Amino acid sequence: MSVTSAKGLHPRTQAVHHGTRRSQYGEMAEAIFLTQGFVYDSAEQAEARFQGTGDDEFIYARYGNPTSRMFEDRIAALEGTEDAFATASGMAAVNGAMFSMCAPGDHVVAARALFGSCLYVLDLLAKFGVEVSYVDGTDLDQWRAALRPGTRAVFFESVSNPGLEVIDLKSVADMAHAVGATVVVDNVFATPVFSRAVDQGADVIVYSATKHIDGGGRALAGVICGTRDYIRNTVEPYLKHTGGAISPFHSWIMLNGLATMDLRVRAQADSALTIARALQDHPGLSRVIYPGLPDHPQHDLAMAQMGSGGTMIAVEVAGGKDAAFAALDRLRIIRISNNLGDAKSIVTHPATTTHQRLSDEAKAHLGITPGLLRISIGLEDAQDLIDDLTGALAG
Ligand SMILES: *Cc1c(COP(=O)(O)O)cnc(C)c1O
Repeated sequence: MSVTSAKGLHPRTQAVHHGTRRSQYGEMAEAIFLTQGFVYDSAEQAEARFQGTGDDEFIYARYGNPTSRMFEDRIAALEGTEDAFATASGMAAVNGAMFSMCAPGDHVVAARALFGSCLYVLDLLAKFGVEVSYVDGTDLDQWRAALRPGTRAVFFESVSNPGLEVIDLKSVADMAHAVGATVVVDNVFATPVFSRAVDQGADVIVYSATKHIDGGGRALAGVICGTRDYIRNTVEPYLKHTGGAISPFHSWIMLNGLATMDLRVRAQADSALTIARALQDHPGLSRVIYPGLPDHPQHDLAMAQMGSGGTMIAVEVAGGKDAAFAALDRLRIIRISNNLGDAKSIVTHPATTTHQRLSDEAKAHLGITPGLLRISIGLEDAQDLIDDLTGALAG
């Protein structure tokens, strides 16, 4: 097996080549090692393998797999971390990152504006004796007040779902590191393309690869990026024994996704800015929330932290739920669904779908009003999307 390194080259080159493992056949495309197990030449070799595997040795697909290792190596290179561990879904990654490092009695500080399933994982940690404090992620004073010597970890989405609040990663990381806490960032909305999370102080970066890494809404996957010690000695034992393993086939989908991700995500973000500007003064909307617009409360931070407003826009339809639903039902190109980062543009009504389970009070706190729509901008022509949205709003 030969392994291609693109270390030191630009991200777009790494995204195409880094970590490719070629068998003795010299296949051009990354091979799918759709095998659950691996054969040993001798009993002695089997014994040795179970005492510890080298970089290119495998035991069982729940522990690791050559196709998955290619995906892990490639995303780690792009993210700038020493290592990565791929998982069955984004939630297996969040769960693996947090549960593998926490023990009863630990203290975790988390931003309140989180994906519903991330909140579930934190509640589960609390059930097992981890103390979880919640803060308004954009308020640095609240982070300062909640952190204390010995805090085990902080957890937040660098750009929140669906409100698109941008959290000051570097400031939170500095405060967290001052008390010895590990900084865990769910970086889905920032995307690996615009992420500079490692430089800004993140220790662990988690992605739902289901989103921009796949880019076609085909397969679930997740990945945890971090130091080699954390990935191999903390995360790997937890995930290999609890079963959150990624399918080699899904790793192959994600490897192919990475090759085109930079082009896709930049095009989607360019369209998102064009569309946000076009909608900005629309009379049918009471708000257009996009970190790339100068009126976004954390616009300057978003530009410094990511250099882009990203691929997601949130709008508030004037007239509440009825008006929002009427507009949704008139859309012709943008599909009503709940994924994001797809080549196809997708619109979501968070209050009745993804965030349905939250209390009215919690929804209000997170800005999830009855008229709020979250739009994931795809790869269609931006003008067609503007026409679709303005047509739907015009009634
Ligand atoms: C989608 C998503 C997840 C969960 O990912 P899955 O692949 O669906 O398990 C976690 N965090 C954020 C911010 C997400 O958007």
